[in-house]
Amino acid sequence: MMNRKVNQPLFLVACLFFAQHYTAQNSTHTATIKKIFDYTLTRGKAYDNLHYLCKNIGQRLSGSKAMYLAEAWGLQTMKNAKADNAYLQQCLVPVWQHKKDEKVSATWSGEKGGKLKIAAVALGNSEGTGGKTIQGTLVVVHNYEELEAKHNELAGKIILYNYPFDQTRINTFNGYRDAVTYRGSGASRAAKYGAAAVLIRSVSTAADNHPHTGSVRYNDSFPRIPAIAIGTMHADQLATLATKSEVTIKLKSTSTMLADAPAHNVIGEIKGSLYPEKIITVGGHLDSWDIGEGAHDDGAGIVQSIELINIFHAIGYTPKHTVRVVLFANEENGLRGGNKYADEAAAKNEIHIAAIESDAGGFSPRAFNGTMSEEQYMKFASWLPYLKPYGITDMGKGGGGADIGPLQQKFKTPIIGLSPDGQRYFDLHHCKTDVFEAVNKRELHLGAAAMAALVYLIDNEGL
Ligand SMILES: [Zn+2]
Repeated sequence: MMNRKVNQPLFLVACLFFAQHYTAQNSTHTATIKKIFDYTLTRGKAYDNLHYLCKNIGQRLSGSKAMYLAEAWGLQTMKNAKADNAYLQQCLVPVWQHKKDEKVSATWSGEKGGKLKIAAVALGNSEGTGGKTIQGTLVVVHNYEELEAKHNELAGKIILYNYPFDQTRINTFNGYRDAVTYRGSGASRAAKYGAAAVLIRSVSTAADNHPHTGSVRYNDSFPRIPAIAIGTMHADQLATLATKSEVTIKLKSTSTMLADAPAHNVIGEIKGSLYPEKIITVGGHLDSWDIGEGAHDDGAGIVQSIELINIFHAIGYTPKHTVRVVLFANEENGLRGGNKYADEAAAKNEIHIAAIESDAGGFSPRAFNGTMSEEQYMKFASWLPYLKPYGITDMGKGGGGADIGPLQQKFKTPIIGLSPDGQRYFDLHHCKTDVFEAVNKRELHLGAAAMAALVYLIDNEGL
């Protein structure tokens, strides 16, 4: 008896350790998560919803007619899913007028002189040539160091940034982050030295001639010169030509910014049964670029998020906290929806216990990555055993999502991003090839189920 008493505290510590490290032993959680996956993989609606969004509405650039159609569709789809509450939250979005009429060609003289028509897409929010054809000698640089070294030769020239995507990065998002600076800031860096326009090698893992768009960020200290994406193969071809002869580029485009327009975050809720005032936000962005159908980016995230409402109803699970699905406006060229959502949360003193975003493609889910305190992270990471049977191999640190970033900045809300397999994403990201046919039903539904499972765990275990 004496000995047992002495050992009791040790026994309690051992129990606590066991409880913390073997939470996967909770059989109710395991069974519910299996129900979530079983339902989604057999009767889920996300793929059909994505088909409608891509084929009946298509691209949905901020401020376009299609954006308003997508908002109405999103609201109706939330109602069809039997959200307790579905509504719009207004914000103002920038409107970039893009008639997709850019023309770029290259000519060169000499013995093997010739002409090349180049597939081109203006970068988002960029100014064009006002419909006039401009012409300039091509200067090819591979990075900013080369640009600076050649700064005396740039006046009146057309600069090609031929910075290749680093194919050695196994996490392609790191390759994207590494290369995207030329798309975002290359125009102003060249305009500083009097360049007439810039061409950007598409930030893409693919070898083809499909240009990939994305936002340009002008520095107001310098002229807003035209900025145009070209395919990776044309970029290499121009770079080779320029080593042999003088290449002249002709360029014409009409893109320009118009006045801001009203737009909306589309919101659908399941009211919490125990803590309705505490919110778990789940979302993606409803807007897309105006080439392709925005299927992976971010139609996938939209339909996966809406699917959570269907899943919880179908398996008869009523969340304790309010689960709020948000289709954010204007992620691509302004982030006005995400900022508005956090502003409204502050104005209404809302309590957000976590926010999850799917905006990395509709491929097989591989991980969740979260930005949160160390204590929260320990709990988040301990849930891995529940998700491992479904292909989630890591609960990592960092990550979240552009639209939920403002919640983290304002309130330190834990934010989590779904990380699908990224090996094919940058072949089609922001490109005309990002269409419904590029999304696999099973992979899309696995992602939706993984998000529902994570929300279920947060709802029951807290964060
Ligand atoms: Zn996106």
